[in-house]
Amino acid sequence: MNAHIVTLPGDYIGPEIIAQAVKVLDRVAAVYGHSFTFDERKLGGASIDAFGVPLTDETLAACNAADAVLMGSVGGPKWDGVEAARRPEKGLLALRKGMGVFANLRPCTIHPQLSSACPLRPDIIEQPIDIMILRELTGDIYFGKRSRSEDRKAATDEMAYSEMEVERLARIGFEMAKKRRGRLCSVDKANVLECSRLWRETVQRLAAEYPEVEVSYMYVDNAAMQLILRPSQFDVMITGNLFGDILSDESAAIAGSLGMMPSASLGSGTRGLYEPIHGSAPDIAGRDIANPLGTILSGALLLRHSLGLEAEAKAIESAVSDVLDAGFRTADIFAEGMTKVSCTKMGDLVAERIK
Ligand code: NAD
Repeated sequence: MNAHIVTLPGDYIGPEIIAQAVKVLDRVAAVYGHSFTFDERKLGGASIDAFGVPLTDETLAACNAADAVLMGSVGGPKWDGVEAARRPEKGLLALRKGMGVFANLRPCTIHPQLSSACPLRPDIIEQPIDIMILRELTGDIYFGKRSRSEDRKAATDEMAYSEMEVERLARIGFEMAKKRRGRLCSVDKANVLECSRLWRETVQRLAAEYPEVEVSYMYVDNAAMQLILRPSQFDVMITGNLFGDILSDESAAIAGSLGMMPSASLGSGTRGLYEPIHGSAPDIAGRDIANPLGTILSGALLLRHSLGLEAEAKAIESAVSDVLDAGFRTADIFAEGMTKVSCTKMGDLVAERIK
């Protein structure tokens, strides 16, 4: 297969981790006989420095013309003084909106080799944990109207959802549940919020079309609690932007390491935006010690969801697992008795295990 991938390394550790993911994808192409071309562009602070804005029209157009986009991370203290409208994070929000990626997928699994990094009691994680959190990404309170009173002592942020926005997200959730363990949990606050009542009614209506999927409904406060008390009960979870923001970070804490976690943002076609969930880690940038596995695993999601290359995606996931089994660790996940390796070395180790 020929595929054209735009890479957006971004800022601080971004270029270091993207280089490892590209190395691994190059290796996949060589082993499986594909041809991947990479077009590197600037985003965030790097784009502000080069062009004065965090995302240029040309970069957005290149992303929309690619088969998939792989991003590192943006932002950091260098641009803290930049005015709100031009901040690096604005570039990322504009990119998500401009690419029409409205569904954010965050897998939450505990690598057995890293289970000691999980803050939950061992008996709670005895049952395997394999959750796919699907967060709506382009609606909700983050995109509603905001206001501040003249005396600056009161403020409002409007939460808004349309049936269409809920439906397109929920359909991805149902389809995913069908391919996984057949369970979908819809998370809302329908006892209080009108948006949540619309959310729940929409999911209930769609449920009739997916009789093979077992659907449950949970209030967000209970979901936050259940994720800690009995995480193994969940398969696919779908929720709005605000609740999903919080629950997906909670799930990342369960998994134990920020550096390990991939994510995918999808729209209605196959094109997607793939990135690790962590930020640009300015405190460790330039020292070749960042953990590239979240970015490398985001590359696996790219192969699976945008290119339909399931065996190749699994090859990356198995290679990561093998490297962990062999005891190699970057500094953030290092434990006594393991072998500490650099960011570059970790990329090499994964790449050479792609068979
Ligand atoms: P962060 O995720 O960058 O770092 C938090 C801690 O985790 C730091 O100690 C860091 O060293 C460590 N860490 C993060 N990724 C790591 C990795 N791959 N390997 C090893 N250690 C890692 O969060 P922060 O410090 O709050 O934010 C730094 C900057 O990143 C801010 O400007 C923030 O706005 C931005 N940010 C960007 C994104 C994104 O691009 N999607 C997401 C979150 C934060």
